[in-house]
Amino acid sequence: MSTEIRKCVIIGSGPAGYTAAIYASRAGLSPLMFEGNAPGGQITMTDQIDNFPGYPEGTSGFGLMEDIKKQALRFGVETQNKLITKVDFSKRPFTLITEDEQTVLAQSVIVSTGAAARWLGLESERKFRGMGVSTCATCDGFFYRKKDVAVIGGGDTACSEALYLSTICNKVYLIVRRDVLRASKVVQDTLLSKENIEVVWQHKPLEILGDESGVTGIRVVSSLSEQTKDINVMGVFVAIGNIPNTDVFKGQLELDNNGYIITKGASSYTNIEGVFAAGDVQDAVYKQAIVAAGSGAKAAIDCERWLMEHPL
Ligand code: NAP
Repeated sequence: MSTEIRKCVIIGSGPAGYTAAIYASRAGLSPLMFEGNAPGGQITMTDQIDNFPGYPEGTSGFGLMEDIKKQALRFGVETQNKLITKVDFSKRPFTLITEDEQTVLAQSVIVSTGAAARWLGLESERKFRGMGVSTCATCDGFFYRKKDVAVIGGGDTACSEALYLSTICNKVYLIVRRDVLRASKVVQDTLLSKENIEVVWQHKPLEILGDESGVTGIRVVSSLSEQTKDINVMGVFVAIGNIPNTDVFKGQLELDNNGYIITKGASSYTNIEGVFAAGDVQDAVYKQAIVAAGSGAKAAIDCERWLMEHPL
């Protein structure tokens, strides 16, 4: 066990974590970041980002995180490509345990662990995961060149995935359980103008069909008539929202009914003094990279000011 007590530890490496790292490094907090098992966070799975300021031509999620990380490294953030599997926030210094059982002590912690893709919860979905079922078109779309695929969901993620896949695949079915999309207007308009995207309105997925070679189709049921139909596809992309990554903090940080960390007012303060939260892990409303980045900046500023008043 290291006896060194770090001034500031950041858990999570998406736009919130890395922006917190830029601010904390520049404030002299010498932050140590645990990147977790998905360095760069969920945004690295997004093919095209057109709404992050500073990129007039747009960029990829991966490219965006490469740039933010480069900027943070310029100011000296130290990173470890490890997961934090246990924390003890009951007393200062706070104790964090890594996946390889290392103990880290911290005067303050910024939690920016983001969210993970939500699954449908079907047995067949589990069975064919990695054999035709995916939550990342950018990662796996390549395998379905000139094939037919289905995307499930009607939000920005599902529509962006469908648009990306429409440039690679023969045909994309977008399975939407209601008669409206949640996605932003500009994305909806682009999607509805694509000839090789068919929206299957008011249908819910019942079962992913397949054999030993992988997915062969999807069975859906009409929300109106309860009639089922099978659609032949070789890939199914699930894009039905996110679940915050807060399991490790249960019982210590105050969470809402959906598992999001509750922060106080407009600040990044959690119920534990000295532990701050930023990004999608505490944002059930906006969930945008730019908002996450902004909240990372807020968390680092809150943390710096709090440390000045509460030295160890
Ligand atoms: P979302 O907005 O919560 O949309 C989830 C979609 O999945 C909805 O259409 C929902 O249907 C559907 N759904 C949920 N559970 C389902 C189930 N069991 N079976 C079938 N359909 C189901 O999630 P998201 O698209 O991941 O977006 C999350 C946030 O990230 C949003 O704020 C979004 O704006 C943002 N985002 C932004 C960008 C961007 O700006 N470039 C890109 C991606 C995401 P209902 O509508 O019926 O609930």
